Amino acid sequence: MDSQQSNNQLHVVFLPYPTPGHMIPMVDTARLFAKHGVNVTIITTHANASTFQESIDSDFNSGYSIKTQLIQFPSSQVGLPDGIENVKDVKDGTSPEMLGKISHGMLMLRDPIEVMFQDLQPDCIVTDMMIPWTVESAAKLSIPRLYYYSSSYFSNCACYFVRKYRPHDHLVSDTQKFTIPCLPHTIEMSRLQLRDWVRTTNAATAYFEPIFESEARSYGTICNSFHELESDYEKVSKTTMGIKSWSVGPVSTWANKGDERKGNRGHVEKNVEKERELLNWLNSKQNESVLYVSFGSLTKLFHAQLVEIAHGLEKSGHNFIWVVRKNDRDENEEGFLQDFEERVKESNKGYIIWNWAPQLLILDHPATGGIVTHCGWNSTLESISVGLPMITWPMFAEQFYNERLLVDVLKIGVPVGAKENKLWNSFTVEAMVRREEIAKAAEILLGNGQDSKEMRTRAKKFGDAAKRTIEEGGHSYNNLVQLIDELKSLKKSKALGEKAD
Ligand code: UDP
Repeated sequence: MDSQQSNNQLHVVFLPYPTPGHMIPMVDTARLFAKHGVNVTIITTHANASTFQESIDSDFNSGYSIKTQLIQFPSSQVGLPDGIENVKDVKDGTSPEMLGKISHGMLMLRDPIEVMFQDLQPDCIVTDMMIPWTVESAAKLSIPRLYYYSSSYFSNCACYFVRKYRPHDHLVSDTQKFTIPCLPHTIEMSRLQLRDWVRTTNAATAYFEPIFESEARSYGTICNSFHELESDYEKVSKTTMGIKSWSVGPVSTWANKGDERKGNRGHVEKNVEKERELLNWLNSKQNESVLYVSFGSLTKLFHAQLVEIAHGLEKSGHNFIWVVRKNDRDENEEGFLQDFEERVKESNKGYIIWNWAPQLLILDHPATGGIVTHCGWNSTLESISVGLPMITWPMFAEQFYNERLLVDVLKIGVPVGAKENKLWNSFTVEAMVRREEIAKAAEILLGNGQDSKEMRTRAKKFGDAAKRTIEEGGHSYNNLVQLIDELKSLKKSKALGEKAD
């Protein structure tokens, strides 16, 4: 590329937050920008880069202008072992203390990253919403800051109105239902399903304040969602809440179209042998007969809950793939799961994957008929994109809102009956979901009743819409092109302004 061309080319820097649910969609989005002619730099740490570098190299070798700029994570300074740079890899990863260490590490990187920004002189910063100080970095460079958070419009709207109007205050109990104000549908929830820092003010409330403030001071937001899925909420977000946004999802389907590396997306190791074995197992199953059970990248369930899931799946009689990420505290109870694995291998009914699954490959396979999900937005959207209905089992963060979207608005979700918003390491036996509830939800999801069939048909329609929206002329496609054009105009105006000075 000659220097004239590189000066004219739009340069966008992406700064992801180190957890798979945040990084994976941002890297997919960065790759889409590059595929649309933008010069892209992704700033991240060594261990995190190793989970996606192969795709970046491949895009670069195909002629796209994309690279990773590495920065050293201060692991030892924040009290983490060397190489632990992602929430997923931290023991007790979702405990407030450990999350605090990762966040502290990211904060310590502010100065070196700002030096990088100065060197790179980008035209725009796309940053995770969890890195609020970038709003000042962008202001120093007089460039737009776009924040990125891969979740639904629905959850963003619901969260906004709950924080604003506090409909959960002054209820007689934690389980009493309240209606979320200002939403286009009647959506009911209980206090227990809200995040603890929304229920009552605590240290985390203060942690989120600068994040919300930085959003209000940003140029806008990129949303991993699509118009056809939640246009009502896209509208509320843009009008009532006044947020400038571009819906460019589903980014995983778009960025990984025809990519054979999608099997190990977001993960360093790739085990070709294991992947082949899994695909052979899936190939041996009838279409839409397998339930895929996964709770995202962070959740580790306690032993008693794992036992209930195992029995529930067996009881349901359906084929299943279950991704098990063991709670580290229960190492001496592994015997039960190993026996279970042996048993379901023998009956050929189930397939256990330890720790990390090639999720996109499994969801894409015709044998997969539904998913049990914690309603993390990426998993939710990845399932919607391939037209799969879901058993909803929210655990923490905004997942209970996503459950309501799936069950009440889109009507493609069967709730398993989760009652309390809690991090996995604080689960209690009282909040446990029982085997009967799991088996019952599986029966509704994959059964032959009229309602079940209609739900599956609805899910397929959303899958079709997801495919269309990312094709040339589709909503998400057009939004991405428009956003890039707008950023180019801003670059031009800035250059003219500088010339005039
Ligand atoms: N993921 C995966 N394999 C796994 C677990 C997760 O590929 O075994 C990917 C999944 O496809 C999704 C992301 O990791 O893209 C998880 O994000 P999500 O929002 O679903 O949940 P979180 O991990 O943030 O709770």
